[in-house]
Amino acid sequence: MRDTEFYQALLGLKDPWRVREVRLDADSGRVDVWIEFARGMKWTCPECDQESSLYDRSHERVWRHLDTCQFGTYLHTRLPRVKCPDHGVRQIRAPWAEPGSRFTLLYENRVIDTLKECDVTGTGRLTGASWDEAWGIMERAVTRGLRRKEVKVPEYLGIDEKSFAKRHRYETLVCDLVRGTVECVLEDRTQESLEGYYGQFSKAELGAIKAVAMDMWEAYIGSTKELVPEAEKKIVFDRFHVTRYVTEAVDKVRRQEHKLLKAQGDESLKGTKHLWLMNQENIPEWRQEQFSDVKNLNLKTGRAWAIKESLRGFWDYSYTKNAEKYFKRWYFWATHSRLKPIIEAAKTLKRHLPNILTYFKHRISNALTEGINSKIQTIKQMACGFRNRTNYRKAILFHCGGLDLYARPPS
Ligand SMILES: [Zn+2]
Repeated sequence: MRDTEFYQALLGLKDPWRVREVRLDADSGRVDVWIEFARGMKWTCPECDQESSLYDRSHERVWRHLDTCQFGTYLHTRLPRVKCPDHGVRQIRAPWAEPGSRFTLLYENRVIDTLKECDVTGTGRLTGASWDEAWGIMERAVTRGLRRKEVKVPEYLGIDEKSFAKRHRYETLVCDLVRGTVECVLEDRTQESLEGYYGQFSKAELGAIKAVAMDMWEAYIGSTKELVPEAEKKIVFDRFHVTRYVTEAVDKVRRQEHKLLKAQGDESLKGTKHLWLMNQENIPEWRQEQFSDVKNLNLKTGRAWAIKESLRGFWDYSYTKNAEKYFKRWYFWATHSRLKPIIEAAKTLKRHLPNILTYFKHRISNALTEGINSKIQTIKQMACGFRNRTNYRKAILFHCGGLDLYARPPS
């Protein structure tokens, strides 16, 4: 088999494309492959498919391809240009690359696969692409994925906020809770942010939303009530956010009490912070004795903790009515605890109770997107390479958007 035939087969080239020449330069570690097209071929206009005659050939174009063994491999060709009676002179697309790209489809897709596994710098090292090239391939993949994506509002939405960088700047994530994907990333966490998402759909389309999980955050509540029909039945306050209010109250009680005790030379609460915040069954064995000792001291923190733990039972109910009854009892206990932070947290929950109880109908929470959270954590760790928020948002869509990212040959 001749080298040209060999490469023709490797590249899977079909008529009218064929390999004219292959050159190996062992010193610079390159294989260059020249491709040409058969003469006398009938072409069609890429715009309208009308049969058109060959006009001329473009100047030589070069694409980076997958390596041949350890050698960087490049394809060269002069692309045919046709003259359409309606569209004038148009260039024919090479079947091995997207228009305008300097990489073959296979190379782009290899870079995409590598980007899924590691950061942009690592991808560059593994594929031989520069940082800018690898990033450009990621951006194009996201654009491609978004273009192919059906514009449709998911039935079960999760709205969550994510901080960007260390300063208090936020992005709002809109997640499809059924697919476990990020639908879009919105700047900031204001009412306008979320309205920007809802705004692309009609009232009827928004009416198809069955439920929306979110934190008790006024801006999200406001925009959802404003735009989603029957929102009051559909908003479900995320159970983990709800629990966090009470957990934070426990921590407040502990801080205040620790300060008071320390002033009297009592260090009982020292180093116990995380014990009170964890679910009891998650406390490591080697700390359990310490925890049971400090619990038996009859401190305010211990009482606050018991109230927090008992709220967990609330979520186990199957029926809204029973859950509501349980909450009422819990609320009475919490508000009679004489622990100010706990009372305040209980009142916040009471105020939002109707949309906490919707959980028992819809059974959704943002925990369904836990996989997304851990991925975003990883993205953040790699974020030193992201020069700005736009890049950060694109990376989230690349990794969590469930998009069809791959470059494909023309159909
Ligand atoms: Zn045409």
